[in-house]
Amino acid sequence: MTSPLLPTFARAELSFEKGEGPWLYGRDGERYLDFGAGIAVNALGHAHPHLVQALTEQASKIWHSSNLFQIPEGERLAQRLVDSTFADFVFFANSGAEANEAAIKMARRYHYVNGNPERFHIVTFEGAFHGRTLGTIAAGGQAKYLEGFGPKVEGFDQVPVEDLEALKAMIGPETAALMIEPIQGEGGIRTVSNAFLRELRALCDSQGLLLIFDEIQTGVGRTGKLFAYEWSGVTPDIMTVAKGIGGGFPLGACLATAEAGKGLTLGTHGTTFGGNPLAMAVGNAVLDVILEPGFLESVERKGLLLKQRLAELKDRHPGIIAEVRGQGLIMGLRTVVPNTNFVSAARDQKLIVIGAGDNVVRLLPPLIITEADLAEAINRLDAACTAIEAGQPSAAQRGAAQ
Ligand SMILES: *Cc1c(COP(=O)(O)O)cnc(C)c1O
Repeated sequence: MTSPLLPTFARAELSFEKGEGPWLYGRDGERYLDFGAGIAVNALGHAHPHLVQALTEQASKIWHSSNLFQIPEGERLAQRLVDSTFADFVFFANSGAEANEAAIKMARRYHYVNGNPERFHIVTFEGAFHGRTLGTIAAGGQAKYLEGFGPKVEGFDQVPVEDLEALKAMIGPETAALMIEPIQGEGGIRTVSNAFLRELRALCDSQGLLLIFDEIQTGVGRTGKLFAYEWSGVTPDIMTVAKGIGGGFPLGACLATAEAGKGLTLGTHGTTFGGNPLAMAVGNAVLDVILEPGFLESVERKGLLLKQRLAELKDRHPGIIAEVRGQGLIMGLRTVVPNTNFVSAARDQKLIVIGAGDNVVRLLPPLIITEADLAEAINRLDAACTAIEAGQPSAAQRGAAQ
């Protein structure tokens, strides 16, 4: 099939007509259980009534006015984020990569206004993913995303996660900040230890560096806390958020302390669309639900249940699943078989899951998932494992062979 879309994505032969909660209705007439949530975006599932109401109500009022004017919905969302985190200020953008660009520029400007313009290097970690702009591919440091795009943007140095000696050796007079995902998402649901995050904080404090957490995938309730950093007791100076915060509406945010953000003064950064009233209405509606008493506790409880069931699944299928990773409702299965085969075998069972680095299959159900639907997902994963064990090629593999 030829398509007028640039062929940058390996798209499955499947599209969806509508969604409801954790369910997706395919144009193939099948109903799918959605454990991908559009890559951790549909935090409240599909067509959540409160989000639909917020979006449609706002749509009949005003969509966009630009940042040349006050946007009260944005003031409110920013205030709520500030009240719930370490941060004093918020900058809204439209995507994760843009939120990270803001964070990178902020860290550089901080040292610039402090009289240290030479401090513009940011240390990032192997396996990281920070987006696909020229700056964020340099930050992520993955050769496959950098190849062919000209010289890598200067000022990003990379070390292995959990390697304190390598990190100390990398930090120099030009270092501005350390940037890390508390759990690497695209990299394969690799959890960074609390001990290492504490070491990062201590290093930043002793060397005058800023600590940047990329919580684009882990934030907004995914791990059972509003933000994953809360588990560690370590607070960053700057944090980026996107994916779940918009519940499916494009929205990113860069949060910062007043001190860390002090370099981004009038006119130093901007956006046309960022923080527009539609996005702000939906962001507020997402927080309405996630901040309801008991909601995050329910995510934590369901996460523990899922982890337990996945551990049992691994014991039943040691030839398929090598390891269970993650926390809350961001879980990974490192598979023995190619993860792409597992993803298509799951799809044959009408379960949507997503591949990640390190041969991992990601499970990212919407946070509103019920325990009954978690059990249903386990049944489908079980059936997928059994089909692979029986040597049954998936529909996708049969299609590819034709
Ligand atoms: C998805 C993601 C990004 C990039 O977000 P986009 O909205 O695709 O630009 C950055 N960092 C992390 C950790 C992500 O998961």
